[in-house]
Amino acid sequence: MNIHEYQAKQLLKQYGVAVPPGESCQTITEAKAIAEKLFAAGQTLLVVKSQIHAGGRGKGTFTHGFQGGVKLVKSVEEAVHVAGNMLSKTLVTKQTGPEGRVVGTLLIAGAEKIKREFYLAVLLDRANSRPLVMASTEGGMDIEEVAAKTPEKIFKEHIDPAVGLMPYQARKIAAALGLKGDVFNQACKLIAGVYKTWWECDASMVEINPLAIVETADGKEAIMCVDAKIGLDDNALYRHPNIVAMRDLAEESPLEVEASKFSLNYIKLDGNIACLVNGAGLAMSTMDIIQHFGGSPANFLDVGGGASKDQVAAAFRIILSDPSVKGILVNIFGGIMDCNVIATGIVEAVKETGLSIPLVVRLEGNNVAAGRNTLAESGLKLTSGDSMADAARKVVAAVNG
Ligand code: GDP
Ligand code: MG
Repeated sequence: MNIHEYQAKQLLKQYGVAVPPGESCQTITEAKAIAEKLFAAGQTLLVVKSQIHAGGRGKGTFTHGFQGGVKLVKSVEEAVHVAGNMLSKTLVTKQTGPEGRVVGTLLIAGAEKIKREFYLAVLLDRANSRPLVMASTEGGMDIEEVAAKTPEKIFKEHIDPAVGLMPYQARKIAAALGLKGDVFNQACKLIAGVYKTWWECDASMVEINPLAIVETADGKEAIMCVDAKIGLDDNALYRHPNIVAMRDLAEESPLEVEASKFSLNYIKLDGNIACLVNGAGLAMSTMDIIQHFGGSPANFLDVGGGASKDQVAAAFRIILSDPSVKGILVNIFGGIMDCNVIATGIVEAVKETGLSIPLVVRLEGNNVAAGRNTLAESGLKLTSGDSMADAARKVVAAVNG
């Protein structure tokens, strides 16, 4: 699960990490009130930031022509004008794809006078089986590009998960960024806080880009997180009800949201052959075999080992409601799964929605005779596959005409 920048900053703040003062809002009236409050508190410049689960907002463009999903404003009037051009409008960035994302929430914050920008991230390095802190002096830009062109500019520090980030490691990272004096000490505290956020929230990634040295009102320097992105490990969300409450369904694919209501493991893909499979391993090999025979899977869908008839029916409805699907492959190996439950679920879903595209079914295992019988008696137009390869070949042939 991903959360918005303003939510990530709330979490970071709880762990003692410095972030600019600000609040989120969903209407122009609220935007005006926040801007008035921040100016009254002594801010001279504010930043209005579109909250979408995608980066590159600063350089993004709205479909109605307004430039930039992150804008600096000097007055309440300007803040209102910018908020009006962002809320309910579609922002297209390098990461959203051409369809863009509708902005439903804004973060309005004190804009800091940025002197230097850095990059800081914590993630899991699978190759080393350790948490990894990455830092770079090349902040504010595309880190993938820095990694490709100037990898020596990315400093990496692995953390022993049993010990956690040691103070000397925070100092090493701050030194690698070339920091000195008071800002050095502030950075050490900030790095420790960012690591703690990553660890305690069970995050898969915390990325601060940019981490910035800013000039404070009294002319001194301070270091703080100007942008923040947090990705969380879904398997640990049950431990964090406060984070689950931050979920924004508007940012997720509607079909995936629907699937999650029925505890189905569904991921939408770009192809046109839908698959309904039990077991993640079989689902992955089903996608492979579709590709092998020249087709392209429209989704990953694992209904699980003990799916109910209702779950199967929901899964089939979800598949059928994807307009890019031109054919369906059902590949079930019933170990615990009762093949007749699958068959009944499919028949039920088709009764509701109808079926106008080719359906190839390969059923094997537990109670398969009853399952085949249910399908045969339903009068459903389908093609049987004798084996996984046979079924894949048949569905690809049917779709590719
Ligand atoms: P992104 O484009 O989605 O990564 O959004 P960011 O939050 O990183 O904003 C993009 C850029 O806008 C940053 O790299 C900064 O240069 C600038 N920016 C964002 N917030 C502030 C701010 O508070 N003050 C100033 N001066 N610039 C900001
Ligand atoms: Mg950024």
